[in-house]
Amino acid sequence: MNIVLFGPPGAGKGTQAKEISENYHIPHISTGDILRDNVKNGTELGNKAKEYMDKGELVPDEVLIGIIKNRLIEPDCNNGYILDGYPRTINQADALDEILENLGKSLDVVLNIEVPDEELVTRLSGRRICSNCGANYHLKFSPPSKDGICDVCGGKLYQRDDDKEEVIKQRLETYNNQTAPLIGYYKEKDILVNIDGTGKVEDVFEDIRSVLDNL
Ligand code: AMP
Repeated sequence: MNIVLFGPPGAGKGTQAKEISENYHIPHISTGDILRDNVKNGTELGNKAKEYMDKGELVPDEVLIGIIKNRLIEPDCNNGYILDGYPRTINQADALDEILENLGKSLDVVLNIEVPDEELVTRLSGRRICSNCGANYHLKFSPPSKDGICDVCGGKLYQRDDDKEEVIKQRLETYNNQTAPLIGYYKEKDILVNIDGTGKVEDVFEDIRSVLDNL
């Protein structure tokens, strides 16, 4: 199953991708995670990407297209994958079509997770992540039992630099201007399915499951 998880920042793409990956045994490919790993390791790519990420802007298409091209040829993608955070521009979507065509594959579905803007800001500004295992928390909706400490592994929780209020606004603007046009792009290809992302994680996943099980 070849899936794109689509939606604005804070819609819950990462959380749902993890659920899909565990339940359907296909890899979760998050371009945001790949870029953050590069930033953390101080690679040339990471240093270049950081400039854009810190401002809430998109990293140039050619960088992302290269990352995806290399990742999709890995053997663990043979039985499918979930793309989270890619594509984010029409140019990236066109490149994905070309990459898949060359591999003799195609997308099965684009799940568009919908959440209103006001809720996205609340979700993103309260989000905290474990620096050790990557588990996600929310100060209001799913706080850790001990302030600043991960329940799963005891790691320290941190706030992503781009989850700070001033960057969130720019990320949402970037999404609306450059990424949202992809909704029409995939609707036209007849592979777009809208998912209400406002409910509980389990309920949103059940909606996704019913779509995937009927493919
Ligand atoms: P995310 O974790 O998906 O919210 O991504 C964090 C940041 O990484 C974004 O705000 C962008 O700066 C960058 N990024 C991730 N994926 C892409 C992409 N497909 N195209 C361009 N920039 C990206």
